[in-house]
Amino acid sequence: MGQTDIEPLDVAAIREEYPILQREFGGEQLVYLDNAATTQTPERVVETIADYYRTTNANVHRGLHQLSQEASIAYEEAHDRVAEFIGAEGREEIVFTKNTTESENLVGYAWGLNELGPEDEVVLTEMEHHASLVTWQQIAKRTGATCKYIRVDDEGRLDMDHARELITDDTAMVSVVHVSNTLGTVNPVSELADVAHDHDAYIFVDGAQSVPNRPVDVQAIDADFLAFSGHKMAGPTGIGVLYGKEHILEEMQPYLYGGDMIKKVTFEESKWNDLPWKFEAGTPNICQGIALAEACDYLDDIGMDAIRRHENELAQYALDRLEAEGDVETYGPPAGEERGGLVAFNVDGVHAHDLSSILNDSAVAIRAGDHCTQPLHDKLGVAASARASFYVYNTREEVDKLVAAIDDARQLFA
Ligand code: PLP
Repeated sequence: MGQTDIEPLDVAAIREEYPILQREFGGEQLVYLDNAATTQTPERVVETIADYYRTTNANVHRGLHQLSQEASIAYEEAHDRVAEFIGAEGREEIVFTKNTTESENLVGYAWGLNELGPEDEVVLTEMEHHASLVTWQQIAKRTGATCKYIRVDDEGRLDMDHARELITDDTAMVSVVHVSNTLGTVNPVSELADVAHDHDAYIFVDGAQSVPNRPVDVQAIDADFLAFSGHKMAGPTGIGVLYGKEHILEEMQPYLYGGDMIKKVTFEESKWNDLPWKFEAGTPNICQGIALAEACDYLDDIGMDAIRRHENELAQYALDRLEAEGDVETYGPPAGEERGGLVAFNVDGVHAHDLSSILNDSAVAIRAGDHCTQPLHDKLGVAASARASFYVYNTREEVDKLVAAIDDARQLFA
């Protein structure tokens, strides 16, 4: 479907599903613009959580009683739903974790520690989140491998010529963020996958900021791994996903040991369970997994293409409004170029932390800091930035309130 055929979101109806948005602070209604950190949770997902504890709560894969069987089926089917959401072949390829960070670490520990050696290189980008950057840095230290970083150009895009230079037959893994949580850049992950595969390297896609906001199909982008978090896509905290191609997960050793990840245990040795349970040791986040499946239903009911357009439009509007201010520096691709639903910026003479606390006085919630991309901030020459990030329930009027609150902050510092 072309972008013009897509119906705009019925934001007023969507907002009714989020009572939290009615909260007021100091007499002002909340303007929640911190969605890249965590999105709010619609009533139907909250209801799924409450209903699970009211009617179905039991441990999975352990009991022969009815409740345990119902919980097990719902939990297993949640893997099927998530697989469908990202175009995976089936539940074998979907490991439930705690969050994106744990998914990154799982691959770092279970694959990296066993497969990497001093001759190997891991290629990342200068815009990686610490979840991938620090993980691969540490795994490289322990294995003797080398980390290399694809340059980000002055307009916040990946330098693809540099990518083609860095990715060679020495590369074992390319780990790349799909949508930058600081720049909003949408990276050409399927092109990077082709380059990685031409050199027999794997590609790990950090989808923390893409899966919530745009259609992502793992087969279309040919990702070997994809990670994302439930709490950034209208789901609960405590649940994340690691997608991995079945044949790769099959060959990997488990990351955590214990109950449920085994098929047979003797005093001498243990045999691992089938996928994905081999990677889900101990009692998992059952309710959160089931609620994540409901969040996938919720997002598909709205339409991922429509969400992508809504996010991009709000980001473009925010860019236009902020840049018109004259003393605001924004980061990432120029206006007009598609980006994820976020804009990071600095106001001349006002530290991002001060700005965020003054905006809080107007009940405008944004994030301030390095957004877990310290090396990228070093490159941008700033210690911190403010970031406004949008989701399905945000409006242009809220962007206007952000800009008005920034004006107020400027007055205080004048
Ligand atoms: N990767 C990106 C691009 C992110 O934006 C985030 C969170 O902000 C993460 C990874 C880490 O996500 P989590 O804290 O849910 O593990």
